[in-house]
Amino acid sequence: MVNVAVIGTGYVGLVTGACLAEAGHRVVCADRDEVKIGRLRTGVVPIYEPGLEELVRANAEAGRLRFASDAAEAVASSDVVLFAVGTPPLANGDVDTGPLFEAVAEAAAHTRTPKLFAIKSTVPVGTARKAERLVARALPRPVKVDVVSNPEFLREGSAIRDTFEADRIVIGCADPEAGERLAGLYEPFGRPVQMTDRESAELIKYAANAFLAVKISFINEVANVCEKVGADIRSVARGIGADRRIGPHFLNAGIGYGGSCFPKDTKAQLRIAENVEYDFQILRAAVHVNAMQRIRFANAVERTLGGSLAGKRVAVLGLAFKPHTDDVRDAPAIDIIRLLHDKGADVRAYDPVATANARRHLPDVELFDEPYGAIAGADAIVVTTEWPQVAALDLDRVKRLMTAPVVLDGRRAFEPEAMRARGFRYVGVGIPAEP
Ligand code: NAD
Repeated sequence: MVNVAVIGTGYVGLVTGACLAEAGHRVVCADRDEVKIGRLRTGVVPIYEPGLEELVRANAEAGRLRFASDAAEAVASSDVVLFAVGTPPLANGDVDTGPLFEAVAEAAAHTRTPKLFAIKSTVPVGTARKAERLVARALPRPVKVDVVSNPEFLREGSAIRDTFEADRIVIGCADPEAGERLAGLYEPFGRPVQMTDRESAELIKYAANAFLAVKISFINEVANVCEKVGADIRSVARGIGADRRIGPHFLNAGIGYGGSCFPKDTKAQLRIAENVEYDFQILRAAVHVNAMQRIRFANAVERTLGGSLAGKRVAVLGLAFKPHTDDVRDAPAIDIIRLLHDKGADVRAYDPVATANARRHLPDVELFDEPYGAIAGADAIVVTTEWPQVAALDLDRVKRLMTAPVVLDGRRAFEPEAMRARGFRYVGVGIPAEP
């Protein structure tokens, strides 16, 4: 059992803290947002993540997980301090490491016994080394504090499973003994650990997200070609994915990636390369293709509805950037809705959990927590998130509610053939038009 403090109780901090508590450690999650901490203390989890509320409650009740708005107390009572504060982009494209360094300096200022500091936030190469120098200046007395890099790879929507079943745990350290101590914390998870230096660990995180972004944009471009030559992206993806050097994952063509990580991390990596005078061309293209994919899809909606959206009612299904999360940060749906709205469409949108978060991005759009209200009177349905609730729609009811049965599926929530057999006009990304 290790005494752990987690600084920054967002998606990463809360999930990591709860999973470590479940593994038997004593964890205190700290955040400077007092409202958030107050709610967590009463058992209210401020984000939607499957299984998280139960995990937090069970471990809080068992006395293994508690919450603090005072980092001093959290740090004093722990041997390992994990930093999971946000690292948002600055206006010039650089990563804002300010809040992270503030948190590190504050923790160091309250450190009186030897500790291990581990940075879980996604940060530019060299951050752990900088943090180490900051710690040395901020310590009230000279005690040994190791600063290691420990990037996080969990995905929102499956964050708990991703933590317990991580493909790998990456630990970047200067002193192997410090790395071993952190590996000990994760030992109950029984996952493979990769030890490396801090700079490589920091770059692994960016390179992983960059590779996945390139993979998504690549298959989307192949899908765009499919549409022009009459090929079917489903067959093409299956055919190339069967090659073990390529692999079958992440080959679902659609409206592209979104969320709080891929867009931010790809742009950060472009900026990191730019700062050392390297032009990361393939990644720059992937980012551009991803932005274009949203525009292409909005244009497809316009084309499908006869070339003009003026006065047309469009039901957009899905606001979250992917299913099983309420996160709408850089969600394709938000951009697509704005594009449709600008083209004159009367847009109504549905999401089972993300309408509250989406409201401030879409003040002029009527949002629904149940699908049929959004669908009533629609000239077309546009699928932007593959929620199971969308696939489970009562299609006869949907058809009755619409002015015409038209579906533009940006996420392959439906089977094209099945939809066409039921009388829908189905338009998908990379799917041949109806014969
Ligand atoms: P988040 O915005 O959900 O949470 C960050 C939290 O940090 C907030 O609650 C904020 O109040 C708190 N905070 C900020 N500055 C603080 C300070 N000085 N002291 C104490 N608390 C402070 O962010 P997140 O999505 O959990 O991401 C955290 C980090 O992990 C980021 O670097 C992100 O890139 C990375 N990451 C995120 C994911 C993901 O899926 N969300 C996955 C892997 C890595």
